[in-house]
Amino acid sequence: KPLGIALVGLGYYSTHQLAPALQKTKFCKLTGAVTGTPAKAAEWEKKFNLPKKNIYDYKTYDRIADNPDIDVVYVVLPNAMHAEYTIRALEAGKHVICEKPMAVSVKECQQMIDAAKKANKQLAIGYRLHSTPQHQEVMRFAREKTFGAIKVVETSDGFRIGDPSQWRLKKSLAGGGSMMDIGIYALNASRYVTGEEPVSVFAQEFKTDPVKFKEVDETILWQLKFPSGAVATSTSTYAAGVERLYATCENGWYEMGPCYGYGPIKFRTSKGEVNLPQLTHQAAQMDDFAQSVMSNKPSIVPGEEGLKDLKVIEAIYKSIETGKVVTIS
Ligand code: NAD
Repeated sequence: KPLGIALVGLGYYSTHQLAPALQKTKFCKLTGAVTGTPAKAAEWEKKFNLPKKNIYDYKTYDRIADNPDIDVVYVVLPNAMHAEYTIRALEAGKHVICEKPMAVSVKECQQMIDAAKKANKQLAIGYRLHSTPQHQEVMRFAREKTFGAIKVVETSDGFRIGDPSQWRLKKSLAGGGSMMDIGIYALNASRYVTGEEPVSVFAQEFKTDPVKFKEVDETILWQLKFPSGAVATSTSTYAAGVERLYATCENGWYEMGPCYGYGPIKFRTSKGEVNLPQLTHQAAQMDDFAQSVMSNKPSIVPGEEGLKDLKVIEAIYKSIETGKVVTIS
C-alpha cells in the first residue's frame, strides 16, 4: 500500500509541483493537507478527492497524530517555520520531509534531527536533485574519480525575484535571502561534486537594490576549500537568472546547465553530451523517501545533509560580517 502524504502549506510549490508530482508517484499518494485558508481547504478537498477529516489547519495540526491515512508530513512553509512544524509532526508520530533550507540555523537543524531520533521516525530534506540521474551521475564521478581528482568546481544559482512584499525578502520568515533560498543548491552541489566537506570559506555580499534587499542578501559570492585541495567558487543571486555546475579534473571536465530548476537538465562532459532520463524530480524524490521508510533504510537526503549546508551558510554569513576567511570545523 502506498504511503499517505499530507502537504503542509498550500502555496506555489505544493500547488504547482508537489501535488501534480504526487499523481505520478508509485509508492506514495496525497492523502491530506494543512492550510490556514478555508477556501483552499475546500478546493483541495474537491480537486484531489480528499476526505474532510484529512484536512487540517494550523490549530488542529497536531491531531494528525490520530490519522492513520497520513504516514508522512511534508513541510512546505516559509523557511523560519520549518523547524517548528517538522518537530510537531515528528512528535505526532509521523515521518517528515521538510523543504530546503532545512531551517534557518544549525541549532534548529540539530533540534529537528534530535526530534526524529526521539520519535524513531525518518526525516528527509527536499533536495530533489539527489533523486535525478544527472546529479547522481556527478556524485558517482566524485566517488569513482571517473575523470581523475576533482580540482576546480564552479556552481551558481540565481533568479530575478519579483514582488517586493513576499516572505522571501523578510528576514523573520526567510532567515536570509538568495543564499538560503537558491544559493543552497549551488552550495549543496559543490559538496556532492567534490564528495567532500569544506574546511574554510571566504564570502562577499553585493546589493544593487538596498531598499528591496534591506533585510536579506541579494547576491553572495563565495569560495570553498576542500581537504583534497579541490576548490569551489559559487554565486547565489536574486538579481538575474543563472544555473551552472562545472567541474574540471585531472583528466577532463563536465558541466550542467540548466541544472537546478525542474528540468530538463542539460549535461555534457569532455567526452560529449550525456543523455540520461529526465524525470519529474519531485515524484522521484518522494518515491525514494517512501521506499526508505518502507524498507527502514536511511534516506539519501537525511536531516544531517540539511544541517551540513546550514553549517556552511552560517560560516558564509560570518565571513561577510567579519571580512575574513572562516574555518569550518
Ligand atoms: P509560497 O509563499 O508560495 O507558499 C508558502 C505557503 O505557506 C503559503 O500557502 C502560505 O499561505 C503559507 N504560510 C503559512 N504561514 C505563513 C506565514 N506566516 N507567512 C507566509 N506564508 C505562510 O512559498 P513556496 O514557494 O511554496 O515555498 C515554500 C517552501 O518550499 C520554502 O521553504 C521554499 O524554500 C521551498 N521550495 C522548494 C522548492 C524546491 O524546488 N525544492 C521550490 C520552491 C519552494
